[in-house]
Amino acid sequence: MPDISRKKITRATIIYWLMLIYIVAALVWWFISLQKQSFELAEFRINQLNATVDSSASTALYQAEYHAIENAKKRTTVKHLSEGLFFLALIIVAAVFVFHSVRRQFKLQQQQQNFMMAVTHELKTPISVARLNLETIQKYSLDPEKQKKFIRTSLEEISRLNFLTNNILIASQLEGGGYHSSKEELDLSDLFKDCLQDFRNRFPEKHFTEHIETDVEVKGDSLLLQILISNLLENAIKYSPKETPVSAVLKKENSLTQLTITDEGPGIPDHEKKKIFTKFYRIGSEATRKTQGTGLGLYLCSKIARVHNADISVTNNYPHGSSFVVRFFI
Ligand code: ADP
Repeated sequence: MPDISRKKITRATIIYWLMLIYIVAALVWWFISLQKQSFELAEFRINQLNATVDSSASTALYQAEYHAIENAKKRTTVKHLSEGLFFLALIIVAAVFVFHSVRRQFKLQQQQQNFMMAVTHELKTPISVARLNLETIQKYSLDPEKQKKFIRTSLEEISRLNFLTNNILIASQLEGGGYHSSKEELDLSDLFKDCLQDFRNRFPEKHFTEHIETDVEVKGDSLLLQILISNLLENAIKYSPKETPVSAVLKKENSLTQLTITDEGPGIPDHEKKKIFTKFYRIGSEATRKTQGTGLGLYLCSKIARVHNADISVTNNYPHGSSFVVRFFI
């Protein structure tokens, strides 16, 4: 976290606690003053009673008056106590609410800053690589094999760029209501197989296993579903060792269609399993993280799942790794 943000958070936290302590202290002071006033009033009335009523002459009258004063004092104490406790409860509720809102706001701001840094880096790298490759081809007369290699890596970088810009565009359009999904009956089996083939071409050294039932149909938007599957495959590859396989499964049972992508990477700790689907969220700190990314992929996946009346979740794969499951309810 940058120093300026940390300083800002520390300053805001100190001001917040000082304000809270001041408000609670004022409330306690208000209660003590009112109680003191009520006790003094009762004492004054008892003194007056002692002066005006002869206690030995009419004990019953004196007792009745005395009890009335004592009862009034007790009632006032109960009133002050209940009002005080009510205000204290209100202050605590408001304080908790403000604390959580401010913390959420700071966190979001922090994540947005990280996102901007990550996105700038991720956009610049493929552009520089593709540019350098094309300049090399233009400047030197390379043999056809080398030329092919340069063109292939340039195309790979361009498709990475396309993937990233698609993610950003679709996420903002889905959020702003600017994306009008065109839902149609489509063959999810074919779409899944096509995506997988695309990844096989991009990552020839990676081993993929597939169990994709044929003719599984869903009503959906093919571009969105393609983005969903690509994000899950991209993550499975990015977060697992090169030599481990990625498995792709699609099956249909009655009214439930289930799409699963499993890897043998480090897996996801239980307390992070929900958080990873929130916007810009990435596990670990910027300093220790080795993989590149924007924290937008799984957020987008969960949005796309919702558009399709589906849900997305992650479970542990044994002995290690994670399984991302998308369930379409028909
Ligand atoms: P990005 O990959 O760009 O960081 P995502 O939204 O796709 O963003 O993922 C959020 C976080 O969830 C990632 O930063 C990573 O820590 C974790 N994650 C996602 N997929 C996997 C996976 N298959 N294995 C382990 N961790 C994962």
